[in-house]
Amino acid sequence: LTIEQLLGINKFAVDDDQAHIIVKKEICALCLNKPCTFACPANLYKLKDGQISFDYAGCLECGTCRAICPQATAALSWQYPRGGFGVNFRYG
Ligand code: SF4
Repeated sequence: LTIEQLLGINKFAVDDDQAHIIVKKEICALCLNKPCTFACPANLYKLKDGQISFDYAGCLECGTCRAICPQATAALSWQYPRGGFGVNFRYG
């Protein structure tokens, strides 16, 4: 199976009322390399017209974006999803 196929096996309980990661795009706009667009294993950070676009719905809760972001304390509000929400890993 490809990585995309393996990721597709996982199930997500998306919390539509409370995002567990909030990206402050005005701070991201100042970041030169935008490593989140390369490092997120779920490819949730994308560049559109030079601006970061992000959707937390497919998040694997790995913490890579928080670890790799040079402005993480200012640019990201990161916490695990509330109980009952988030990724449910399936190992095929
Ligand atoms: Fe992507 Fe991991 Fe950050 Fe979720 S925690 S957005 S999967 S890098």
